[in-house]
Amino acid sequence: MIAIKDNIAQVELQITAACQQAHRKPDEVTLLAVSKTKPIEMLEQAYQAGQRHFGESYVQEAVDKIIALQGNPDITWHFIGPIQTNKTKLIASHFSWVHSIDRIKVAKRLNEHRSNQDTPLNICLQVNISGEISKSGVLPHELPALLEFIETCEHLCLRGLMAIPEKNASQASFMQMQQLFLALKVQYPTMDTLSMGMSDDLQLAINAGSTLVRIGSAIFGARG
Ligand SMILES: *Cc1c(COP(=O)(O)O)cnc(C)c1O
Repeated sequence: MIAIKDNIAQVELQITAACQQAHRKPDEVTLLAVSKTKPIEMLEQAYQAGQRHFGESYVQEAVDKIIALQGNPDITWHFIGPIQTNKTKLIASHFSWVHSIDRIKVAKRLNEHRSNQDTPLNICLQVNISGEISKSGVLPHELPALLEFIETCEHLCLRGLMAIPEKNASQASFMQMQQLFLALKVQYPTMDTLSMGMSDDLQLAINAGSTLVRIGSAIFGARG
């Protein structure tokens, strides 16, 4: 059995070390445990170890887990996967956060489906920083139009930006995200989250001001 608890402790040590190296405070960085494809029992172990933020990428799988774990209302669920418009209702009704918004149509649907809840949906806009054709996310020059629309969505709360830099991306790509984030934050004061950093690029992300790292395999083991 994988010792989830030990893995989380190890990742927290890595975050602390990365923060020290970047002259930042570890409490500025939230650990999101990415549990996609992993069984409920592993999420329960992580919960027992004190983990409260969980990230999922596949809607139906995620909804099943959220329902199974609804006895633990202090869990915060984050949707981080690609979004099909026909899944926006399920996402808006089960998650507190969505990191992967990259087009107006999806924002519009999420806003509509959230209207019957007391709290707005926290959102990050996914930016395609590496400019790869295959990756989802808005290109930086497309952000203003999307932001202008988001401002009209009363059931969405704009919290920040998300990026998945390409494998072996340079520190410069991460810094580019930081520049974008800092510039937009001035204009949009609800922005406080830069969602960046995975198991293999934690240090580069934290150097560049990431406030939330999304860690899967280092906690739950490799995915099949
Ligand atoms: C799967 C996934 C992660 C976690 O990746 P690991 O390399 O397992 O840490 C982070 N972010 C997103 C968007 C993912 O889909």
